[in-house]
Amino acid sequence: MICKQSPFTYLNDIAQTLSDELEHGRLAHAYLFDGAYGLGKKTMAGAFAQAILCEDAGHSPCGACPSCRAFAAHTHPDAVTLRPAEGKKSIPIEEVRLLIQDAYIKPFLGNKKVYTIQDAHLMTVQAQNALLKLLEEPPAYAVFLLLCENSSAIIPTILSRVRTVRFIPAPAGELKEFLKDKCAKEDLDFVVSCSGGSMGNALRIAEAAELKTLREEAAGIFFSLSCRDETKVFDAVQFLEQNKEQAEWILDFWMLLCRDALYESCGRPAYVLNQNFMQEIRSFSSHVTQKGLCRMEEHILTMSQMLGRYINLKEAGYYMLLQIWEEIND
Ligand SMILES: [Zn+2]
Repeated sequence: MICKQSPFTYLNDIAQTLSDELEHGRLAHAYLFDGAYGLGKKTMAGAFAQAILCEDAGHSPCGACPSCRAFAAHTHPDAVTLRPAEGKKSIPIEEVRLLIQDAYIKPFLGNKKVYTIQDAHLMTVQAQNALLKLLEEPPAYAVFLLLCENSSAIIPTILSRVRTVRFIPAPAGELKEFLKDKCAKEDLDFVVSCSGGSMGNALRIAEAAELKTLREEAAGIFFSLSCRDETKVFDAVQFLEQNKEQAEWILDFWMLLCRDALYESCGRPAYVLNQNFMQEIRSFSSHVTQKGLCRMEEHILTMSQMLGRYINLKEAGYYMLLQIWEEIND
């Protein structure tokens, strides 16, 4: 197999499929690795690229030939990676033009060249159209690996020319097993539930010690909305603004608290994930109906979906929090 056994079944399945294609000479000219952040696309693309370039043609990279050694040292002349420049949120056409020029130069070391485009969904439409021309008539030696978190941002004419490989969220059980030495036992359920099935997210959450403090604060702010004092809404807006870098995470956490409150009010406290806030969750759920809790989750979800776009965090946050406050206090 192109890489060693992973603790995640879905990754082993993908690795097996790619190994088979390589071994039986059924490589496509272009692949699209599609899936959310942190699901292993980059690692898989690296292993696949190394295996394709390896001089000991087989289904797994030998690790010893000049090609494998150059690859490991990041100096392989036939492994080219394109990614958004530091601090940039797009890949412009100029960058893709350079890649296209390079693609018409024959391989230096072996008989293949591998082009990896990270965050391919950030290519501008012009950049994608330029790439399309190359994908329509690719040099025989070139393999393109497009990594993307959102295939709806890729133009359909490219989608029809690539072999799509989907990376799915990991099942909670496998993620827990993977995290058991990397995360405090009492945080495990919480980390898994906030990760969205992504090992990258899970590691980020588990490693961020400051998130523990933020979690305490976010919980305090959220529960304070259940007292009739309307100024708590302003405190909550201010909290969101002060922590705008973590806004997405805070909203996810508040949704989780709504969900916990719902389980508590259904008489299923064992399903509550944030057991350390049990007392507060119990008190909070006594202030709001089950339907109200569901609507609160919807308000937060709506706001969460808007976060990626250009919104005024203060206004959108105020609107959401006021709706939540009214669900509790009306
Ligand atoms: Zn090798």
